[in-house]
Amino acid sequence: MENIIILGTGIAGLTAAIYAARANLSPLLISGPEDGGQLTLTTEVENFPGFPQGVLGPELIDLCKKQAERFGSRFKVDIATEFTQMNSGFGLTLMSGEKIQTKSLIVATGASARWLGIPSEEKYKGRGVTTCATCDGALYKGKEVIVIGGGDSAMEESLFLTKFAIKVMVIHRKDSFRASKIMQERFFKNPKCSVMWDSVVEEVLGDGKKVTGVKLKDVKTGKMTELRCDGVFLAIGHIPNTSFLKGKLEMDENGYLKADSYSHTNIPGVFAAGDVQDRRFKQAITAAGSGCMAAMEAEKWLAGQE
Ligand code: NDP
Repeated sequence: MENIIILGTGIAGLTAAIYAARANLSPLLISGPEDGGQLTLTTEVENFPGFPQGVLGPELIDLCKKQAERFGSRFKVDIATEFTQMNSGFGLTLMSGEKIQTKSLIVATGASARWLGIPSEEKYKGRGVTTCATCDGALYKGKEVIVIGGGDSAMEESLFLTKFAIKVMVIHRKDSFRASKIMQERFFKNPKCSVMWDSVVEEVLGDGKKVTGVKLKDVKTGKMTELRCDGVFLAIGHIPNTSFLKGKLEMDENGYLKADSYSHTNIPGVFAAGDVQDRRFKQAITAAGSGCMAAMEAEKWLAGQE
């Protein structure tokens, strides 16, 4: 039986691991499908304290991982598919078939990119439709791309894509961005960037092999137009990774785990940290902070069980 299992190796899970390992709990981390979490898919992180010149997302994760390892954290690349509550402790079934038991659990499974959910998007996934500019941007050298969304991710992805694409057009369903002022300023200052307001993508167009454009609808007038492009980048937010916990842990209508201000879920001994329980801030630093809190509370809870 493990003392503590941490689901997720994003910044929340890794911070929890640093604290749990330093409390001599020898935590076991299960990576999930996106080892390292969302920061591994981003470029420069400019708002994490301690890095005045910024730090690359993957580098930050690598540093946290080394720090967690230094104090005795253990890592397993696998995915939790089932959670059960036992008489004493909890059971987890992993995708590999392995079953593990633990006295306490920190769920830091994060959130994954949201998709539009239209059939043509499915058809061209990986053939011009993607959710990761950092991963796929270089394939669009000299091409024209669109980015869907109006938040900081849409700004960040657009600016990154200007390194490769000749034209980056943001398609946004409203007539203003919700992105931070500084990101908007950078976006509007870049001559390669432009925006089409009040528009939604109704269909991704292609030649059967790759994307050739999109069909757009003006949400105010209902008018349909076609726009030529080579790539479609989605930046429309994220969905918490909690499907395997449905019916077991309390969550809100959007699937975010419900945790109190001390990271406790509705089941004693199960804690939640990071984006999986954060409807509001979704920042690297808040995820790290909640990982710290969850580990300290788990340590206290385990001590109380002895
Ligand atoms: P957000 O939830 O902030 O924004 C999502 C955007 O997508 C919104 O503009 C939303 O429109 C739009 N959207 C949602 N669903 C759809 C849909 N089905 N069709 C069309 N458009 C849709 O997500 P982000 O990923 O941008 O940001 C998440 C968090 O991470 C934020 O707190 C952000 O500040 C932070 N972040 C910070 C960065 C930085 O500081 N450098 C970089 C990236 C993210 P609407 O506005 O109409 O709701």
